[in-house]
Amino acid sequence: MTTAVKSKIYLSSPHMSGREQDYVAEAFATNWIAPLGPHVDAFEAEFAAYVGVKAAAAVSSGTAAIHLALRLMGVGAGDIVFCSSLTFVASANPIVYQGAVPVFIDSEPDTWNMSPQALERALADAKASGRLPKAVIVVNLYGQSAKMDEITALCDQYGVPMLEDAAESLGSTYKGRASGTFGQYGIYSFNGNKIITTSGGGMLVSDDAEAMKTARFYATQARDPAPHYQHSQLGYNYRMSNVLAGIGRAQLQVLDERVKARRAIFETYREQLGGLPGVRMMPELEGTSSNRWLTAATIDEREAGVSVAALLDALAAENIEARPVWKPLHLQPLFERAAYYAHAERDSVSDTLFHTGICLPSGSNMTEEDQARVIECMTNLIRKGRSS
Ligand SMILES: *Cc1c(COP(=O)(O)O)cnc(C)c1O
Repeated sequence: MTTAVKSKIYLSSPHMSGREQDYVAEAFATNWIAPLGPHVDAFEAEFAAYVGVKAAAAVSSGTAAIHLALRLMGVGAGDIVFCSSLTFVASANPIVYQGAVPVFIDSEPDTWNMSPQALERALADAKASGRLPKAVIVVNLYGQSAKMDEITALCDQYGVPMLEDAAESLGSTYKGRASGTFGQYGIYSFNGNKIITTSGGGMLVSDDAEAMKTARFYATQARDPAPHYQHSQLGYNYRMSNVLAGIGRAQLQVLDERVKARRAIFETYREQLGGLPGVRMMPELEGTSSNRWLTAATIDEREAGVSVAALLDALAAENIEARPVWKPLHLQPLFERAAYYAHAERDSVSDTLFHTGICLPSGSNMTEEDQARVIECMTNLIRKGRSS
């Protein structure tokens, strides 16, 4: 007997609304294919209004947006930049692009994001050595906001500007305010796996409209206002194309629906899996609302009777894409010489989350049957683990 291969369930795949093609068609009809064009201007204005900032700059990726923000903050060769450790490598790579030196800050258990107590120790040490960081990059993991009140208070106390990496938290709020708007700069990503996508792209936001003008200048090769090609500063080719901005405009219109769908997916996982032995869902800090970009949980192997690695293998065998939690950057070979501040002495929270965490398929286009398949697979394994 042959068993049919079950259709693949992705971790988080693009989810078009259907209106994207109207905007793309408009770009084609007017021949605003590239570069820039009216969709780019409109996408920036609509995006800035949505998150509630004065200005936005549409760029080719979230990584490019981080790079531009660091440049605007004056980060240069030999400078120190603090960064969350538990994140995707793109949060920190632009530090190195600028020739600066990353210092990684651990997570705390309530949000899985930057630990204010680790940040406080790092800032105190930096001050004592006379080398304060040029910037602090705070990541909002899987949609959950970091402890912004505590972190901004520390940054203000030491006079260090903050860049909020909200690549994963578009549509999330902290005390009613949009995630990504707490730092001097904020960035978002429209990569294919994010909550909304332009196939690839990013956005830099700030209440400093002049700085956003400068960002657009750097992002278009820093061309001086002259009829000939004249350049006084180093620039990049980082702007978003008008075709992709059209996709972004249509995606932004359904963002609230996408957040609702991802939160509902999380709720179903929580109801069905959250009560199983050893399973703990990622928390949501009081006063915040996460977009639940990815449903994440930790598995206590002793209680659940099964390891994260075994769960991932079993899900893969069922053609289900699940992932471990990000490997912390202080554990990456690329950054093996970087300094690191743990949450507390002999308590590295991000290490524990990395060893016990799992991300489950969370796409807003997942069907109920898809989710039931994931839940059944998880439930069978965890119960089997218990009975053996
Ligand atoms: C996706 C992501 C980025 C990078 O965005 P790209 O658009 O892929 O360059 C940066 N930081 C975090 C936390 C991300 O998840």
